[in-house]
Amino acid sequence: MAEFQHKAFGLAATDSSGVLSPFHFSRRENGDDDVTIKILYCGVCHSDLHTVKNEWGITQYPVVPGHEIAGVVTKIGNNVEKFKVGDRVGVGVIVNSCRTCDVCQQDLESYCAKMIFTYNSTDKDGTRTYGGYSDTVVVDQHFVLRFPENVPSDAGAPLLCAGITVYSPMKYYGMTEAGKHLGVAGLGGLGHVAVKFGKAFGLKVTVISTSPKKKAEALNKLGADAFVVSTDAAELEAATGTMDFIIDTIAAVHQLAPLLSLLKMNGKLVTVGLPDKPLDLPIFPLVAGRKMIGGSDFGGIKETQEMLDFCGKHGIAADIELIRADEINAAMERLAKSDVRYRFVIDVGNSLAKL
Ligand code: NAP
Ligand code: ZN
Repeated sequence: MAEFQHKAFGLAATDSSGVLSPFHFSRRENGDDDVTIKILYCGVCHSDLHTVKNEWGITQYPVVPGHEIAGVVTKIGNNVEKFKVGDRVGVGVIVNSCRTCDVCQQDLESYCAKMIFTYNSTDKDGTRTYGGYSDTVVVDQHFVLRFPENVPSDAGAPLLCAGITVYSPMKYYGMTEAGKHLGVAGLGGLGHVAVKFGKAFGLKVTVISTSPKKKAEALNKLGADAFVVSTDAAELEAATGTMDFIIDTIAAVHQLAPLLSLLKMNGKLVTVGLPDKPLDLPIFPLVAGRKMIGGSDFGGIKETQEMLDFCGKHGIAADIELIRADEINAAMERLAKSDVRYRFVIDVGNSLAKL
């Protein structure tokens, strides 16, 4: 592990048990284009859980997860004009890309073949990247986002991954036309923000969930119009052929056929969830209704800022359970059981140093 002067402290998993424990490491010095951030909050994404348990088979230990980072700027490099010390900023899923390829030129850095993830990646200088379950991070200014004044840092942090990962496909696949019917499959971190965006776009929103106990809150608090329990054949039957599009945020292997059946003719099923194993692709319901399945990742930096500004305008933030750093392992266990309303956020600023 490379050693720098800039000391950092965080939570790391060291093997596929996924258990997180205190970890001392260092960050690179602030370069001319860099911004140093004191981390105050970090959201707990299901991708963090997939990674610490090596469910995708790509984890290099030790790994410090966290890509829903909110904090304040403590240092800027000579070339930094976008930010000043004291600014309230965020960092999402990537911290760099090649900046020159076709997709980078189109502000789609998240599709760059050379992008560098916020954690579990190799940085340009050959060192490992470590994420936001830590007290400080150094990031090129291009990959730093600004929180609008009325988006709080704690409930705003999850927008940096959960928010943009549903906003980007909703825009790209045209799920924004007022009056259309959106299904949101899986009511977790991503799903609950998708409900909020759907309502902000003027859509009719139906949650498709395995958790009947989330129904009252989905309807009364998140503003969903309807709730379908995906294990209830009668409820599925009643909703058959009613939806224009579905965003599938489910974190585990599941059947696509029941979701496809909910779509109208020409309907679109867009998957953003990343289960650890492939899903079966049922061809008949796809062909019969001229339906489409698409995918999407977490969007580019320009669109992420656009999404944050949209949240500011519409008063959107995540519904969070704020936890102390010493509660992270218990929170991960609950996340694995879909038992979170609806995003855990670590109160890094007030609890990490006490470990
Ligand atoms: P999450 O908070 O755990 O939510 C996932 C939801 O999926 C759960 O709340 C649950 O909803 C449902 N679910 C879980 N297991 C299920 C099963 N066996 N069958 C049916 N439904 C199940 O996770 P998240 O943070 O929102 O992330 C969701 C997925 O998106 C993860 O795989 C994550 O890695 C991925 N992701 C992808 C991107 C991208 O770039 N595309 C970015 C971020 C995250 P109900 O209780 O309502 O059933
Ligand atoms: Zn994420």
